Amino acid sequence: MKKIEHFIGGNFTSITSKETSLVYNPATGENIAEVSLGNESCINQAVESAKVAFQKWSLETPLNRARKMFKLKEIVETRKDDLAKLITLEHGKTFDDALGEVGRGLEVIEFACGIPSHLAGNFTSDVGTAVDSWSDYRPIGICAGITPFNFPVMVPLWMFPIAIACGNCFILKPSERDPSSTSMLAEMVLEAGIPPGVLNVVNGGKSAVDAILSHPDIGSVSFVGSTPIAHYVYHEAAKYGKKVQAMGGAKNHMVVMPDADMDLVSDSIMGSVFGSAGERCMAISVVVPVGQETGEIIRKNIISKIENLKIGPGIDPSSEMGPLVTKDHLNKVRQYIDKGVQEGAELVVDGRNFSLQGYENGYFLGGSFFDHVNTNMSIYKEEIFGPVMSMVRANDFNDALDMVNKHEYGNGTAIFTSDGGVARKFSNECQIGMVGINVPIPVPVAYHSFGGWKRSVFGGHGVYGMEAVRFYTRLKTITGRWPAGKSSGAQYTFPSNN
Ligand code: NAD
Repeated sequence: MKKIEHFIGGNFTSITSKETSLVYNPATGENIAEVSLGNESCINQAVESAKVAFQKWSLETPLNRARKMFKLKEIVETRKDDLAKLITLEHGKTFDDALGEVGRGLEVIEFACGIPSHLAGNFTSDVGTAVDSWSDYRPIGICAGITPFNFPVMVPLWMFPIAIACGNCFILKPSERDPSSTSMLAEMVLEAGIPPGVLNVVNGGKSAVDAILSHPDIGSVSFVGSTPIAHYVYHEAAKYGKKVQAMGGAKNHMVVMPDADMDLVSDSIMGSVFGSAGERCMAISVVVPVGQETGEIIRKNIISKIENLKIGPGIDPSSEMGPLVTKDHLNKVRQYIDKGVQEGAELVVDGRNFSLQGYENGYFLGGSFFDHVNTNMSIYKEEIFGPVMSMVRANDFNDALDMVNKHEYGNGTAIFTSDGGVARKFSNECQIGMVGINVPIPVPVAYHSFGGWKRSVFGGHGVYGMEAVRFYTRLKTITGRWPAGKSSGAQYTFPSNN
């Protein structure tokens, strides 16, 4: 069976990992690989390797680091199909969707290619007599990233290209559920001429994460995953004095006004609720029609679309939706559907009995649609992370806005309308980090930054874009006097321009 090892100092190594975890093909339920689960000793070795690499890497000029990023971009672009195949094999999403994921990750590498200008500081002459002052951005040292299963290539690429382009070395702890594509990325980094030890990958679960959080030589932690773990990572990392950004879970609402283009609405619902089997932190999971008639139109338009979703293995080009990632996750999502029925929501389309000939052991679930959900139900309050849509009807715009704002999560939201004034009011007043206007999954492009509000985020900076450049650097401000001049005696008052 294939073994997935840690990647430390430019080599795959099984050092001191005795514990392992199995990796499955979710389309067939077959066990396809075994991944080493790292512990404190693996993290220590990765840190030692990063410390050695940092001595030279941090002294490379930003332009030279950018040149390596250009090379990495070329390699990832040339081998994007290989990465996408691995994503599909272990995650289950369709091949085209996996290619889209790689494409969005590539955009972050492209952003990192511009690092010389992103790192530019500022200079002010004559802040005092013969005194100048300038500020610039210096690397932190060793940064770490902990990533979720749902984007095994894109989310690591949200983090390490910018971190290493800023002059840091990086320790990446990918999800243990689909780690192969992340390992392939690490090989590509080496192939791009980025020295061994600049990027290290330690596989594992909680033990590896805890060793990262408490390691005294790791200066920053980036986390993307569920809210309870994001909250834990934020507190632990901060306790040890680290810079930390922790992105959590979501419950994204799509508000549909009566004047919206209803064809666009139903197509947008299908892609954003059921794409990637709902396993996206920016998936729409709650549709909020404003007015009874709007709700009836949506209901009528989407029932047959959900029933006719082409569900199949991700490698089949005709599949629109693949399986869920693991058997445990499949069971969890099924239990939520059971709970929704018990709680009294109307299960209009029931995906629980879906089965695919030839793939009976795969983790497939049909698309499900609950109507007449209310805000007290757990299927509304909690993140399901599966192909389940809840419709909560609102009487008017203010009801809908209030609902969005009262939810504990604040990752993404969207409004569909043909009224610019309504769209503007919604985007200004919603307490949400990423807002779409007639756009269902408003994931910001690489040169903006990604981040939710409320319990979808803990910590100060968004990921990628300029927010990441600030997160992965420390500000240094230098004040200098030339000519140095002769001392006119000790000054005991606070220097000022008066
Ligand atoms: P998860 O929280 O279970 O795991 C994320 C990472 O944390 C993994 O590397 C995992 O090994 C590690 N981990 C798991 N349990 C841990 C524990 N007890 N202690 C320490 N580390 C632990 O998340 P997941 O299931 O892999 O991914 C899905 C979740 O990620 C969803 O909640 C989704 O909304 C969220 N997500 C959020 C964003 C965002 O940017 N806001 C993006 C993608 C996914």
